[in-house]
Amino acid sequence: METVTKNFQEKILKSNDKRFLEKIFLKARNLTYEKFGKKINFYYTSTFFPPISITGKNCALDCLHCKRKLLDFMVQAPNPKILLEKCLRFWKKGAKGVLISGGCKSDFTVPLENFVDVIEKIKSKTGLFILAHTGLLDYKKAKMFVECGIDGVALDVVGSPETTQKIYGVKIEKEKYVESLVSAKKAGFKVISPHVCVGLHFGKIKGELEALRIIASIKPTMIVVTALMPLPETPMKNYLVDPLDVAKIAALARLMFPDVPITLGCARSKGKIREEIEKQTFLAGVSSIAIPTKKIYEYVKNRGFKTEFYGACCGVPPNKKFRLKKPIF
Ligand code: SF4
Repeated sequence: METVTKNFQEKILKSNDKRFLEKIFLKARNLTYEKFGKKINFYYTSTFFPPISITGKNCALDCLHCKRKLLDFMVQAPNPKILLEKCLRFWKKGAKGVLISGGCKSDFTVPLENFVDVIEKIKSKTGLFILAHTGLLDYKKAKMFVECGIDGVALDVVGSPETTQKIYGVKIEKEKYVESLVSAKKAGFKVISPHVCVGLHFGKIKGELEALRIIASIKPTMIVVTALMPLPETPMKNYLVDPLDVAKIAALARLMFPDVPITLGCARSKGKIREEIEKQTFLAGVSSIAIPTKKIYEYVKNRGFKTEFYGACCGVPPNKKFRLKKPIF
């Protein structure tokens, strides 16, 4: 799968040489043209594909970058009955899918096993596309989740155990991620969408390249690159990621996985830096951008790119079932 040597991957990551990086980004972008055409997909979640927390606002962890605040942005469905009601309501209003997420237990798993019966019911009644944040997986759980009707799995992969220890408060070794990905593959999820959060280690690059190498233990459906989002009222509210670092990881993902769609995920900063991350990662070859700013939409249009719009979580591949007629700003 890899088309670039490990030494060259590291050279890209460490480089501050503008001309060298421009050449690399161009190579990555050209590879995207070749494989996916001169087209950018834009994703919008909102009511088309709502994120739902099955633990409400509860989480056994207390990650430094989140402090459980991410759960505030989700629809709360802390028991199977509420999950069923909410999913039926979303489906009747036109949702095409849901992201089932939530807080974690102390072993970095999301307690989905308590919801498998209701998920099976939701799937058979609505046909909604179900993407889940599972946290770490073993084969038995992965199989159970596939069998109850979960279509896809989204998993944050962190390449540095030191980062998971410092930020999540749990040391997660590489082998655990490999086991999760291989189990997901073996169990037969339709979509396996690993995420790499650039700058999770206090805004700096640390285990992101290793995360891509871990992901290479399988062929993922797609890779989502996100950027540390400084959330108010968390100890990491002042840590910003360098847009160039996000672009380097996007380009590395493209070069290491030439056939796999690379998406800039919705989790990233606001304001000017958001626009800069979008522009740099576009230049570095991403094929999709979630919740785009108007600026990036105009930028790619002005460069003659075809644009398509999808009402879905950025962790699922573009599919006509999710297609929208026009952008939303
Ligand atoms: S496990 Fe998830 S929800 Fe819980 S604190 Fe960490 S990032 Fe937030």
